[in-house]
Amino acid sequence: MANTSKERALTPPERLTQGCERPWEVALAPFRVAPNVYYVGNSWVGGYLIRTDEGLILIDTTMHAQLYLVFESIRQLGFDPRDIKLILVSHGHYDHLGAVRPIAEYTGAKVYMPKEDEVFLTERKDLLHTMGYACGDFAIDEYYADNKPITLGHVTVHTVHSPGHTPGTTSMFIEDRDEDGKTYVCGLHGGIGLITVMEDYLEETEQPKSLQTDYVNSLYKLKSRKVDIAVALHPAHLGMLEKVGADRLDYTPFYDPSAWEAFIDDRIRMFEEMIAAQ
Ligand SMILES: [Zn+2]
Repeated sequence: MANTSKERALTPPERLTQGCERPWEVALAPFRVAPNVYYVGNSWVGGYLIRTDEGLILIDTTMHAQLYLVFESIRQLGFDPRDIKLILVSHGHYDHLGAVRPIAEYTGAKVYMPKEDEVFLTERKDLLHTMGYACGDFAIDEYYADNKPITLGHVTVHTVHSPGHTPGTTSMFIEDRDEDGKTYVCGLHGGIGLITVMEDYLEETEQPKSLQTDYVNSLYKLKSRKVDIAVALHPAHLGMLEKVGADRLDYTPFYDPSAWEAFIDDRIRMFEEMIAAQ
């Protein structure tokens, strides 16, 4: 009899290939996570659209081959992709920035990216991990600074440099409010995967082992942030897709002021296990 156990989980490189070669397999209808924040990514990697009264902000773009799905999601929500004013890139990996070039060209949006990952766009393109898929060059218009929040219309995004996963990984805390004026902080860790802080990976890619210490120090720095709604760049990290209800615009399933700290604590534990097994 055929093996009826559940499908083998795909590794990140396999997920990247799937998303680039068979985008329809990971296509996902958009949903809302906070009053003005919407998920417009696919089932593996996220893009977040923020509506402000002066235009749209897009956090991460997913891959080049996914561009049509991101635009389709934005249109399904009733917005026009041409209203994207700012593109905020969380870190220099292809699954997050692979569609920056076409979106920036189409919209004229300003591109923000961490300064420490700029080298991924130049001398160290190998660190983007494009696996040979299309990735247009683009210029960075602004770098992040922890003391320089990004404001568009009524929304402010506070960025926090959280190195580890990459040297420039940047976490974001979006100050949002609903129609009644109730405020929410929506928190997003800028890159939490442990695979790029493993000793073998750092050696192979000739990167400093200090990124491991940076990784865990960043988690401790972020742990005490007050977050009402925790979201993830890879939705599986927070079981997000299981929380989406029949009404995809209902963000209340994502409201949980205890989720952020629990998530960060869990990652600290996973990091310690990785170090112990090294
Ligand atoms: Zn990454």
